Amino acid sequence: MNRLRCSKCGRFISDQADSYIPFGNYWDDEPEIKLMCQKCVDEEIERIRRTGKIFSHYSPANFEWKLAKELGYKRVDGWWRKEDV
Ligand SMILES: [Zn+2]
Repeated sequence: MNRLRCSKCGRFISDQADSYIPFGNYWDDEPEIKLMCQKCVDEEIERIRRTGKIFSHYSPANFEWKLAKELGYKRVDGWWRKEDV
């Protein structure tokens, strides 16, 4: 069985909570998909809620899409842009 590891904390995880593909390797033959465990997802959600900043990834994680919508961000050319209110 393939053991999955969280890219952030390095813990082995049975089920990935979420995943994303960072800029910088999406042109590789096999893009390195970053997995995240639930704990790191929760921490990141908290950080984003606190700071209002979302890191831009080539392929954002599901929770990043959700938060972006919640916080009024739009994806423009791969970057999160705040919509003018
Ligand atoms: Zn983790």
